[in-house]
Amino acid sequence: MKQLSIRTNSRFEMIDITRAVADAVKEENVVSGICYVFVPHTTAAVTINENADPDVPRDIIMELDKVIPFHDNYRHMEGNSAAHIKTSLIGSSEAVFVENGNLVLGTWQSLFFCEFDGPRTRKYMVKVIATD
Ligand code: ZN
Repeated sequence: MKQLSIRTNSRFEMIDITRAVADAVKEENVVSGICYVFVPHTTAAVTINENADPDVPRDIIMELDKVIPFHDNYRHMEGNSAAHIKTSLIGSSEAVFVENGNLVLGTWQSLFFCEFDGPRTRKYMVKVIATD
């Protein structure tokens, strides 16, 4: 398993981590398998979506903020309930097939680290399970 760190720059941000994950997979020398990406935080997540048009992550951020506003009648003392809720909705892990040492993603798909309570220095884990 590899642990990677990432510096986020704003409260709510989606950062393309496809290249970093693909490089970590290459180092494992696995031809065929499954790559798991796991985010060990309660206010950050991981998802797969389009990065060809930067307006896609921008729109996701905008709509999540409408559905889960930063201020509401939350009871959580820390004041970041919106970040916790967004994390549960988006999820803490993704699984991507690996073939010929490469991530199998659709043409328009990228892996995104989703920061919901930044800026912070975060981490995420990459593990490749060989299946061949
Ligand atoms: Zn909290």
